[in-house]
Amino acid sequence: MDKIESWKKKFPVSKEEFEKERAEDRNIQENYLEKLGELSKKTDRAISEVQQIENHIKQIEDCQKQIDKDTVNCGDKISGLKNEMQAILDAEHTMAQMLSDQFEDLKRLPAIEKHCIDVIHNRADRLEEAICRLTPNSLLSFEISLAEHCNLNCKGCDHFSPIAEKEFPDTDQLCHDFERMNELFGARIYQIHLVGGEPLLNPDIQRILIMTRSAFPKAVIDITTNGTLLLKQPQEFWDICRDYHIVIRPTKYPIAFDYDAAQKLAEINSVTYHYFGNTGTVTKKFAKFPLDKSGEQDPKRSFISCYRANKCIQLINGRLYTCTVAPNIRHFNKAFQATLEESEYDYIDIYKAKSAQEIFDFLARPIPFCRYCMPRRTIWDQPWKVSDRTEEEWV
Ligand code: SF4
Ligand code: SF4
Repeated sequence: MDKIESWKKKFPVSKEEFEKERAEDRNIQENYLEKLGELSKKTDRAISEVQQIENHIKQIEDCQKQIDKDTVNCGDKISGLKNEMQAILDAEHTMAQMLSDQFEDLKRLPAIEKHCIDVIHNRADRLEEAICRLTPNSLLSFEISLAEHCNLNCKGCDHFSPIAEKEFPDTDQLCHDFERMNELFGARIYQIHLVGGEPLLNPDIQRILIMTRSAFPKAVIDITTNGTLLLKQPQEFWDICRDYHIVIRPTKYPIAFDYDAAQKLAEINSVTYHYFGNTGTVTKKFAKFPLDKSGEQDPKRSFISCYRANKCIQLINGRLYTCTVAPNIRHFNKAFQATLEESEYDYIDIYKAKSAQEIFDFLARPIPFCRYCMPRRTIWDQPWKVSDRTEEEWV
């Protein structure tokens, strides 16, 4: 607009001026065109650079994608490696544990070895004992019950005294049996235990002591007693024990009884006094010898594992038994209406036996009654108690 106004003011112009102005305009136009060309080139360069930058950006993006992809792959690989490493560590741990266990086993070896040796010794002892039971004796130790009942009544007493009725042996029969025993065995009888029940309950004990010593002058004779009646014995009793060399053999029970006073009394009277088994202690345990009422045990197995077999030999009414259970089962049968059978094959009649050897041989063999015993199930360490007189104490 400014240009047009200036042209209006200048008109009318001359042809020269007009041409001059036109020439100037053309110059200006050419300048413009030249600058436009330069600008166009710059624009093209700029576009080209922008394209290059875009290409670079794309390359960078591609690289980033590749990096992301590689990162994921690497993560997976690292995770796999971690798992492998953990598996190796676990295996190492297991191996270390196994080694440690083996090391512990090695440390236990001496104890295991000792245990094995103990087991072998134990088995050897049992085997030796079994052989002893099955080997006929050449000397005889036996016991006689002077009273079936007892004043203490221990739980599970293997003489069945808590459930036995008051009963004493016939002294004359005893005297007769002693003569026959002497006839058969003579000096081969080396030991006689006067037992019970409680033997001191027998009112005829003094006569029996003299009679026993007279029949067996060389044997060791003892009174196996719970001791509780010792302080009540008259002086004659102590005199006989001293003069006839009768040993007092009490068992010390955890009861309110002054065993020291009894021992002192024996010493005062010069009577030999030895505690049975648990000398000097009152922590008495009681053993349970369970019976199998069905009688289905193997007699031979019972016999060879029974500590009483061919050892706790009992003389009763002219019969010798290899143990004290069979002859006393009658108390159990009567108390509990049981039917554990004791037969003529469970003892040997000393009047029918032709020789001592025949008797020794008989005593070293299982008897039919062994089928009722379960010596391997013996419980040795029950706390001592007074009997409740229930069947469970013996089965
Ligand atoms: S003291 Fe002896 S005989 Fe008397 S009940 Fe006890 S174990 Fe049996
Ligand atoms: S009867 Fe019983 S206690 Fe007697 S020897 Fe046989 S197993 Fe032993």
